[in-house]
Order: sequence, then C-alpha cells, then structure tokens
Amino acid sequence: MDEFELIRQFFSHSALDHNVRLGVGDDGAVLVPEPGRDIIAVVDTVVDSVHFPSDLDAADIGYRVMAVNLSDIAAMGGRPRWATLAITLASANATWLKQFSAGLFAAAEEFGVALVGGDTTRGQQLVISVQVLGDVPAKRAITRGGARTGDDIYVSGTLGDAAAGLRLLQQGGKDGPARLLNRFRRPVARVGLGQALVGLATAAIDVSDGLIGDLGKLLEASASAAIIEISNVPLSTELQAAFGDKQALQIALTGGDDYELCFTADPCNAETLQQLATSQDLLLTKIGVIGSGKGLQCLREGQPVEIADPGYRHFSEPTE
Ligand code: ADP
Ligand code: MG
Repeated sequence: MDEFELIRQFFSHSALDHNVRLGVGDDGAVLVPEPGRDIIAVVDTVVDSVHFPSDLDAADIGYRVMAVNLSDIAAMGGRPRWATLAITLASANATWLKQFSAGLFAAAEEFGVALVGGDTTRGQQLVISVQVLGDVPAKRAITRGGARTGDDIYVSGTLGDAAAGLRLLQQGGKDGPARLLNRFRRPVARVGLGQALVGLATAAIDVSDGLIGDLGKLLEASASAAIIEISNVPLSTELQAAFGDKQALQIALTGGDDYELCFTADPCNAETLQQLATSQDLLLTKIGVIGSGKGLQCLREGQPVEIADPGYRHFSEPTE
C-alpha cells in the first residue's frame, strides 16, 4: 500500500456539505468562510510515548488527537469546521490505520468537522498533527486575556479523571474504573459549552496541562491574580475511590488531559451559568475569584496552602 492508496482508503471521506469547495485530492483544500464570522486556527501534535502510551488503541489515538484540537476551538468559543491531518508512520499497518481513522472520524463527525487534507510521511516514530479551523461571530472569540477583577472563576465537569486514567493505563490497569480510563482515551471537548460562553465568559482556557498551570496562563494573559478554594474543585467519586481524597485532589490540581474549560465570568452571570449547566447537563463549579495584582493563591478551607508541581512542560528537564 503506497501513500496515495493509504490516503484514498483511510482519509478520503467526502466533505462537500461542510462549506468545502474542494477537499482531499488537490494541492490544497478550498473552504468557504461565512460572512460575519472570524476564523480560529489551532494545531496540536501528539507523539507516541510522549502524549500517549504506545499500546493505546489506535481508535483512541485517532479520537484523542481530534478531540484535543476541538478543545482548543471550544476554549475560544468557536464552532469547529474543518481539519487537516499530518501523520508520520513507521509502517503502513492496515488494521491500525483502519482503527485510527475510525476513531478520528468518530470525533470529527460528532462535532461536525470535515477532514479536508493532510500529509502522509514515513518516519521512525508515530507523530500526528491535526489542525482544526473553526469560526466564531466576528470579534467575539473568547481569549485568555479578558479576566477582570471581581470575576468568578469556574471549571466545567470534574478534574483529574484523565490523569488518573493515564496513570492506571501506565501501570497496566486496563480494567480499572471505566470512567477514569475513558476520560483519558476519549476526552470530551466542551464545544457546546464554549460556544454558549461567547458573551458570557470574560476569559477561558482549556485544561490540558493541569488546572494550576493552565489557570496560571490565563492569569498571566489577563494580568490578574486569583484566589481559589481547592476544596471546591470538583472531583469524581471514581477518582476519590481509586486514589483517596488527598491524592485525588493533587491529581485534579496538577494532572493534565482533562480538556475541561476553566473560565471567568462577571458574578452577575452566576444564575445564567447555572441554567446553562442544567441545559447542557454539565457541572459548572465556581472555584475562586479574580483579584488585582499577580499570581495564584490557593486556599484550603480558607487557609493558604502551597501546591507543588505546576503541570507538564516539554523541555522542562534540566539541560546540559
Ligand atoms: P502534495 O504533494 O501536493 O502536498 P500530497 O500528495 O501530499 O499532496 O497529498 C495529496 C492529497 O491528499 C492532498 O489533497 C492532501 O491534502 C491529501 N492528504 C495527504 N495525506 C492526507 C491525510 N493523512 N489525511 C487526509 N488527507 C491527506
Ligand atoms: Mg502539491
């Protein structure tokens, strides 16, 4: 199977109903933007053994790499539209490719994204980049930089489940609690929430590297400070049962891969946000407030606490 046969067989789903003039097969895709909307572009790369264990199911790898990009679109308040895929493979294994493509298209179809192009290469290690283009009403994209003093800080869903799931997978615990494992394998991009937050949230970020680290980025972009009450951070009963209260909280604060949204909003929107939570059947929990100055202060039942480990960073090992 050569490169072109591979593309034809696994990555050439028709996409003509998604404002696509021309999809896979030419030098480039031709896409039709909608008037009055801005385009949001995001890209994320996943590397075998760095972002997922080598033995993760191919379908889960495909689903995840799409979902993590959709999550970035969600954090901007965007509607996902189109995707491209750059994949470097050590070998062309048809069984693996079939499953990978099924997972990728499952996520794409769930959120109305058309795969419109890509690049296929051979290399020593499995590396996958997905780019997603989305759109948002003109000038309404939610950024990290809009938090204001007095805003409430919220998170969606529960935190820590995916990091716990990854830990279980790494320890060979494939039959651990399904909720934890699945939250790593099949992250849920909060695309509906993100779009509903346009005009409601003042700032947002998706929690990919851990709450403490990602909220820190939002604060920096907003030139703001925050106080959070860590006992309000929402934990699943499965996480608490598997790791105990103390470790569960540590994982929730610093573990990555949840792809929940952390956002800020004026306190006058509190009721609207709870109605939104109900209508989306999703937990939205206030965990703190934005203040003036700089930095993040954590309280535990009102008392200041230090949280070690600000989350995952590439190249953070000591260099020689
Ligand atoms: P070029 O040499 O002009 O860059 P390619 O031969 O790499 O084009 O690709 C041919 C067509 O197949 C292009 O439309 C490209 O976007 C698409 N394509 C290549 N790899 C993939 C992939 N993994 N998934 C989806 N489309 C792909
Ligand atoms: Mg070309």
